[in-house]
Amino acid sequence: MPDVFADLVGQDEAVDTLRRAAAAAAAVLRAAAAPTTAVGDELDALAEEAGGAEAATVDPGAGMTHAWIFTGPPGSGRSVAARAFAAALQCAYGTGCGECPGCHTTMAGTHADVRMVVPDGLSIGVNEMRALVLRAASTPSGGRWQVVVISDADRLTEAAGNALLKAIEEPPPRTVFLLCAPSTHPDDVSVTIRSRCRLVPLRQPAPDAVAEVLVRRDGVPPDVARWAAAAAQGHVGRARRLANDPEARKRREAVLAVPRRLTGVGAAFDAASALIEAAEAEAEASVAETAAAERAALETALGAGGTGRGAAGAIRGAAGQLKDLERRQKSRATRAQRDALDRALVDLAGFYRDALTMALRAPVAPVHTDTAALAGAGAQKWDAEGALRRLEAVLECRAAIEANVKPRIAVEAMMLSLWKG
Ligand SMILES: [Zn+2]
Repeated sequence: MPDVFADLVGQDEAVDTLRRAAAAAAAVLRAAAAPTTAVGDELDALAEEAGGAEAATVDPGAGMTHAWIFTGPPGSGRSVAARAFAAALQCAYGTGCGECPGCHTTMAGTHADVRMVVPDGLSIGVNEMRALVLRAASTPSGGRWQVVVISDADRLTEAAGNALLKAIEEPPPRTVFLLCAPSTHPDDVSVTIRSRCRLVPLRQPAPDAVAEVLVRRDGVPPDVARWAAAAAQGHVGRARRLANDPEARKRREAVLAVPRRLTGVGAAFDAASALIEAAEAEAEASVAETAAAERAALETALGAGGTGRGAAGAIRGAAGQLKDLERRQKSRATRAQRDALDRALVDLAGFYRDALTMALRAPVAPVHTDTAALAGAGAQKWDAEGALRRLEAVLECRAAIEANVKPRIAVEAMMLSLWKG
């Protein structure tokens, strides 16, 4: 059975850091359990070590600390790394063996002392964060660590960030926060939070490493795995989806057909509409089911379907709760749409990148092997400069949407640029 770090693709350095930290954390627990050792002293030593202490005998790379931040491009495995580390902290052997109950329940998402916060909307609010911080301060029921994993820590609202900062500044002795964010840029994570965390940078895994894991773990045929890994541009989850999901492949093909279709102004607007609508449809499919189930569950909890006067009163009093749910669902749907659109834009950027590298005769493998001939034709027609302008148009569109420009407006502007060059 592979250990908990086996799914972390092409991240040897980070895995090494995390293994040593997990061992250090296990040593802290052992020392605390030994009757001759004062627990407080051990934990003080731990905190000092984490702060880059002077103690010359301590390997600075091995230190365990209360707050970590995992950074890297989307798909590099930030939350996979955080979850694996959480498992190693709960592992009976302190290694992340993958077999003991601590490892097993953490990886399955059922460990009582591990909380995964996955924001499903555009931001993580202060109330959610306060509740989380409060629970994280309790004594771990398994006797090891309370671990809180916050994926997309870049979506913390300012107030939520402040609530988290307070907890990180004075951490309860057995609490560990694992944050995941694209980068440590102040737009993603506040400088003060960053300064309290130990950093684990992840890199974009090489296509070969991604293909290897698809073959080994998912049983994907090698040639499909190689194609999917290249097309996904280092995004492990995306590569897996392309290898296994025919719908995802169909959507990608539709996106890559865009450059061929841009024959005039009308066609450019049509292409924009098609892209937006495809993203909406994809997002709707992914959120509709949960949304309906959530609403039904809440209505049942509030007594809808009951006929008594009490039930009617409960419904009136609960209008706020329903409204709150609707607000969260709307935010989640918006996020899903943006994510779907962003995936399409990344595919499109890959196409123009291929055209650019071909125009420059750069000795690099194309991202999209199946549209390489088309990209080659584009390279001849546009030259390097024209290919670069088009690539930039796609990247500008991504940036504009991230900066809250209305997607349709950003995509229409992009399509016109792609057509005109
Ligand atoms: Zn284990």
